[in-house]
Amino acid sequence: MSDCVFCKIVDGRIPAQKVYEDAEILAFNDINPARPVHVLVIPKKHIASLATVTPADTPVLGRMLATASEIASAQGSTDGFRIIINTGRVGQQEVPHLHIHIVGGPDPVGPMLKRI
Ligand code: AMP
Ligand code: ZN
Repeated sequence: MSDCVFCKIVDGRIPAQKVYEDAEILAFNDINPARPVHVLVIPKKHIASLATVTPADTPVLGRMLATASEIASAQGSTDGFRIIINTGRVGQQEVPHLHIHIVGGPDPVGPMLKRI
């Protein structure tokens, strides 16, 4: 996707602080971190959101989750972390390229959501 910001990071058209890369997956620091550790894990292939995955995407999704745990530890979130996948309008997804947020650091990240 030529106008997708995360595809541009994959292609090297815009810079990012990469923390992990393999043939299928890229992880880089969030440009506007919410916690001391805030990394985004993306598939290199453009997938718009978790709502648009197909069965063929299952292996890369599994690898993204397993790799997220390794990245969290490697980035210093050694005593746990949270992953978040904002999806679509209700999930308030801002960048329409599937991504896992890893948030963590030395301290607990805070409540999950405000209660209704
Ligand atoms: P979401 O609301 O789940 O779509 O989150 C998008 C995330 O992407 C936000 O936390 C942004 O700070 C982050 N972001 C947007 N542009 C960039 C960029 N060029 N490099 C790194 N992170 C970015
Ligand atoms: Zn993309």
